Amino acid sequence: MAVIALTASQSLTVNAQEKPKPADTEFYTPIPAVVTPGVMNNAPSDAIILFDGKNLNEWVSVKDNGPAKWILNNGVFTVDKSTGNIETKRKFTNYQLHIEWQIPSNITGEGQARGNSGLFLASIGSNDLGYELQILDSYNNKTYTNGQAGSIYKQTTPLVNANRKPGEWQIYDVIWTAPVFNVDGSLKSAARVSVLFNGVLIQNNFELKGPTQYIGQASYEKAHGASPIKLQSHGDKSEPISFRNIWIREL
Ligand code: MG
Repeated sequence: MAVIALTASQSLTVNAQEKPKPADTEFYTPIPAVVTPGVMNNAPSDAIILFDGKNLNEWVSVKDNGPAKWILNNGVFTVDKSTGNIETKRKFTNYQLHIEWQIPSNITGEGQARGNSGLFLASIGSNDLGYELQILDSYNNKTYTNGQAGSIYKQTTPLVNANRKPGEWQIYDVIWTAPVFNVDGSLKSAARVSVLFNGVLIQNNFELKGPTQYIGQASYEKAHGASPIKLQSHGDKSEPISFRNIWIREL
């Protein structure tokens, strides 16, 4: 078939069938699944419930992979620092996560030693390995800004400080895009995260440099696949924090 170059005026007279139409860019399939939104912050109909106030069945202790031993009381669970980190039984890749946490109103300590916990967006080993979205009382508590609540720990500062007072419930809504690795283990695409903190955007599609590193620069050293989500039992001496209403939607 011959290809004929048309001038601008000629192209306007091409037969009507080839003229762009509104319908050319309107799609009818695939049809998005129907999801019933949750009321207020409750889970929508297609979410996996990770904690609904009744039990810790979706969680295990990182130390021994046995039952999570944090303290369940009145629809809420509280960190038990003597039993270490907990993580989900299930593994996830890309997801939307909702989690609520509360710094106790009688919190003491300062800097990193004031209500420190953490949400590891992918747990890639025991203890503190993974990608940490910091949980801390940053309502009125100075520390390095890339270590305050809402930071991707030691990688980036939140866009704003949207903390509520100790004693009030705080909400993280997280959209996580997992890193992708080539077959030889090298990085194909970095992890990305967006976070709303109490409804306020604090991380906007931030590209992570690698798993959280306490000392030194983060980098993607080891390939991994789907991973649990982990909650941190931090070693500081301050009063333990609590969690409620945790749900996730796989993407
Ligand atoms: Mg922490």
